[in-house]
Amino acid sequence: MSLSTHTTQDLLDQLQSGQLTSTELVTTCLDRIDAHDERIGAFLHFEREPALQQAAEIDRRRQAGGTLGALAGLPVAIKDNICANGTRTTCASRMLENFVPPYDAHIIERLRQADAVLLGRTNLDEFAMGSSCENSAFQQTRNPWDTERTPGGSSGGSAAAVAAGMTPLSIGSDTGGSIRQPAAFCGVVGMKPTYGRVSRYGLVAFASSLDQIGPFANDVTGVSRLLEVLAGHDERDSTSIDRRVPAYSQNLDQPLDGLRIGIAKEHFVEGLHPEVEQAVRSAVDVYRSLGAEIKEVTLPHSKYCVAVYYIVAPSEASSNLARYDGVHYGFRAEKFDNMIDMYSATRGEGFGDEVKRRIMLGTYALSAGYYDAYYLKALKVRRLIRQDFDRAFEEVDVIASPVTPTPAFKIGELIDDPLAMYLTDIYTISANLAGLPGVSLPCGFSSEGLPIGLQLQAAPFEEERLLRAARMYERETDWHTRRPAMNSNSAS
Ligand code: GLN
Repeated sequence: MSLSTHTTQDLLDQLQSGQLTSTELVTTCLDRIDAHDERIGAFLHFEREPALQQAAEIDRRRQAGGTLGALAGLPVAIKDNICANGTRTTCASRMLENFVPPYDAHIIERLRQADAVLLGRTNLDEFAMGSSCENSAFQQTRNPWDTERTPGGSSGGSAAAVAAGMTPLSIGSDTGGSIRQPAAFCGVVGMKPTYGRVSRYGLVAFASSLDQIGPFANDVTGVSRLLEVLAGHDERDSTSIDRRVPAYSQNLDQPLDGLRIGIAKEHFVEGLHPEVEQAVRSAVDVYRSLGAEIKEVTLPHSKYCVAVYYIVAPSEASSNLARYDGVHYGFRAEKFDNMIDMYSATRGEGFGDEVKRRIMLGTYALSAGYYDAYYLKALKVRRLIRQDFDRAFEEVDVIASPVTPTPAFKIGELIDDPLAMYLTDIYTISANLAGLPGVSLPCGFSSEGLPIGLQLQAAPFEEERLLRAARMYERETDWHTRRPAMNSNSAS
């Protein structure tokens, strides 16, 4: 069997009917990882035996007629910044290279309750800071569509693993686009839920007011099934909201009558690749042909998103990362003279360049004399950005836009120009600043054969409508069924 021809729903159906066992499915994934991951580098580490044991256990329980969870027997790969009891969680950083958490993140508990099989841990930019996986301290993940190119980031490993058929489902985190951008670059579906929809308990914090965990799959149905398991209240995250979780996958195939789609002129600006613009506009035409009403909306403060994000996120990061001091967690330098020297040697050796850059930016923005001019000002503009969306969502149900200004860029192309790298987040950051749900879904290919993503955003807690709108498009098109031609490890 091959994952490339099966959707999540097919696999669940086959598992339920007994046509397929979880052991067979997990073995297929592990074989695929063996055959291709030396070249793709999606996984940082995985443990074959525990995954196979978990699968065998689920198969046994199914045969015995026991009740099983919603994802029973289905493999899920986890971004390596989410804690799982007894499993190394590195954040792709030397700082946490040997960190083994003594507890499960909320979403790991949920996945275990759903009887999903935890397949392995995927690569990311160090502490989720980046857009290309080039900031991982351990390896470069390559884009399965073109291995010269990045898979995006920071959840590049999770996106590449699904695109390469190594797992049907994976988990990422999105602080400024880290689920949606790699989903777009790798031609899969990725979703950032509303802030507060999924508990952040056990997610290693980057920027706590922006971070949100979310699903990847090959199609909207897969993402919906996974979100149903991840979403829900958790007292251990004070920002988790106590609100009913709709059965997202249930009415997914019912088209939305009278859907109103917003298009913002601020999303079609200089720097947008003509082929991306073309693909997104064609996607909007598909909605028009399905009877949706297309309306112009305005998001006047969009031009400040990147600036605001790159003050707020580093500020929060500089505070969150203060805990890595060589005492509480992880790595400690070997040579030092005194305590202060120990801190600085540990942090100097344990963090990579981008993480240090963020800590310096954030510490500067928060320091006395600059706090009002930078951090406080950024918070005020953040509120205006949210208000733009509140107004827009009085007029429309969903806003359609590009996910990224260009298709996947080449490895090395932007790494020496941090500002150019930051600008690639231009269309995704606003959802984090405003706390909105956003989904990225395949909507075409560039002339070079690279996937292009369509972003849909909705008002907070409108995931159900958002996913139904996404599915409406997906049903009319076949972009999500295309798969990269995979050569094996040996063929360069
Ligand atoms: N690319 C953005 C950054 O570097 C977003 C990262 C993320 O969402 N984790 O901060």
